[in-house]
Amino acid sequence: MATHAGLKVVVIGAGPAGVRAAQTLVAAGLRPVVVDEGRRDGGQIYRRQPEGFKRSYETLYGTEAARAATLHHDFDALRTHIDYVPDTLVWNVTPKSVHLVSGSHYQELAFDTLIVCSGATDRLMPVPGWHLAGAYSLGGAQVALKSQGCAIGARTVMMGSGPLLYLVAAQYVKAGATVSAVLDTSTFGQRVRALPDLLQLPAALRKGMALLRVLRRAGVRVHRGITPLAIDGTPEHGVAGVRVKLADGSEHRVPCDAVALGYHLRSETQIADLAGCAFAFDRRARQWLPEIDEDGRSSVPGIYLAGDGARVRGADAAERAGRLAALAALQDMGAGPSGTLAEAARLRGELARYTRFAQGLRTAFPWPAQFAAALPDHTVVCRCEAITAGELRRVVRETGATEANRAKAFSRVGMGRCQGRFCAHAGAEVIAAEARVPLEAVGRLRGQAPVKPLTMTLSAAADSAEESQHDAQQGVCRIKDVKEFSE
Ligand SMILES: Cc1cc2nc3c(=O)[nH]c(=O)nc-3n(C[C@H](O)[C@H](O)[C@H](O)COP(=O)(O)OP(=O)(O)OC[C@H]3O[C@@H](n4cnc5c(N)ncnc54)[C@H](O)[C@@H]3O)c2cc1C
Repeated sequence: MATHAGLKVVVIGAGPAGVRAAQTLVAAGLRPVVVDEGRRDGGQIYRRQPEGFKRSYETLYGTEAARAATLHHDFDALRTHIDYVPDTLVWNVTPKSVHLVSGSHYQELAFDTLIVCSGATDRLMPVPGWHLAGAYSLGGAQVALKSQGCAIGARTVMMGSGPLLYLVAAQYVKAGATVSAVLDTSTFGQRVRALPDLLQLPAALRKGMALLRVLRRAGVRVHRGITPLAIDGTPEHGVAGVRVKLADGSEHRVPCDAVALGYHLRSETQIADLAGCAFAFDRRARQWLPEIDEDGRSSVPGIYLAGDGARVRGADAAERAGRLAALAALQDMGAGPSGTLAEAARLRGELARYTRFAQGLRTAFPWPAQFAAALPDHTVVCRCEAITAGELRRVVRETGATEANRAKAFSRVGMGRCQGRFCAHAGAEVIAAEARVPLEAVGRLRGQAPVKPLTMTLSAAADSAEESQHDAQQGVCRIKDVKEFSE
């Protein structure tokens, strides 16, 4: 497996950011290794359907069909110039090595340069009953539709805030599913305040408004300015309805058998954390984010962060950020092609508009931090370990643990399968409210390897004639094939 001038470059993620980073490296004569835990490329938004599924691009990606087709086409054209390792998780990073696992096989892979394009996941705020069967994240509801062509329920309520709320609701409607209501915690006034920033990308704004028209035409009720009260149901039968307080103060119940929840997105930062990158608290987003310069250089030399995994700015921005990070890496390796500086300046200028638009989204669809303080004690905060808000508050009061990692040690909030990905933000808000300290004083959960659960029995990757034949047909590498790279 050849590497240009001996440079070993690894890209984590084959979404918009990772594909553009890889493409930029290949254009400069490098042969990067691209690792993705997904079975196919495309990342979150342009997720390719499983082999054998035959839905059209228009059906799958709607207004984004042309962009999806271009990214897939460009990635296919790269396949013979990169070592693509799908279906493989990067579960740890140590100095100059990534640790991979695929099924029950592991492999360590040395790198000179690492470009992390790890994307984002839903940002969630607990509500009583969200642990019942039938309660999903908005992203989970979308994945069910995109990859399996099925809805999460016969009558689904979408609740939370953010662009994904309306997008998933509209996608469900278009797919013929019944959306019983869209319950949005943000208000019309917040949208109006965000307008100057949102107008940075008028086309994106128009797409958002088109989603509302889809819902209106389908007769879906949209309530804004709501406060979630509870998801009703039983452990035996799962979700039966959603109760909210409407903007006028009245209580309202929507019967349903499934709920999709979410409050915009949070960056997947565990890999950056394990790599030792410095983080800073972003007051507006109320979250800790890895520090990057405007090109995506992290605080660790040789490690670059791009796409939603560094800053949530959407897919178009992710493509630009991936390219920019690769150009920065090439420049730092002394391998920058001619015209790099001008191209980088253009990309920075474009990204500045996406950054303002992203600020607008935060203003229009704010993270409802205030709900954490008001959660009833019986609300489950950590679904993996079944720890309630009351238990977390007791730990804060009785042990004085107001720092996130100490509170985790005493309460187990964030210690389960999801490693805090879905409860850490809300857990920190609960701690801050109980201890009456600013959120930044609570700190953040330290990333721990493995980033996701691994099987108990791992073995070094080995050759199998059958697998090799299959891989050659599919144009993919397995982790055993990248051995030479680490030598
Ligand atoms: C659930 C969800 C649904 C979304 N839906 C839409 C939508 O419909 N329309 C829209 O405009 N935007 C949507 N977005 C936003 C959009 O997906 C992103 O803006 C865009 O995909 C960002 O591109 P990216 O390359 O930064 O990350 P992604 O596209 O998320 O790609 C990241 C890739 O990294 C891989 N990865 C992450 N960690 C590891 C690891 N440790 N080891 C190996 N591989 C790893 C993942 O498998 C993934 O393929 C959605 C976001 C989320 C989270």
